[in-house]
Amino acid sequence: MRKFVTPIGNEGMYILDTASWRIVRPVMNKEKCVECGICLTYCPVNSIEFKNDKYIVNYDFCKGCGICANECPKGAIDMVEEGDDK
Ligand code: SF4
Ligand code: SF4
Repeated sequence: MRKFVTPIGNEGMYILDTASWRIVRPVMNKEKCVECGICLTYCPVNSIEFKNDKYIVNYDFCKGCGICANECPKGAIDMVEEGDDK
């Protein structure tokens, strides 16, 4: 699991559990994805990775903001309510 640290206040460095903010999650449609990498570029918490020749979401830190889905030129990312895809 990757660690992201952000300076807050005077107490030092903390890891922000940005995944706990999520009420919807991005789900990629591999049939539509053309592997352009735009989603990876726009994700503000660097939660999209290129692994084993495909783009995947790392849900450890994805905060469900939906920017990736908004920027995907192929509409290959759906925002799904947490729990609906299980
Ligand atoms: S922006 Fe869309 S098409 Fe491009 S890599 Fe991401 S999911 Fe695939
Ligand atoms: S929903 Fe937001 S935080 Fe999650 S992968 Fe997409 S851009 Fe990144």
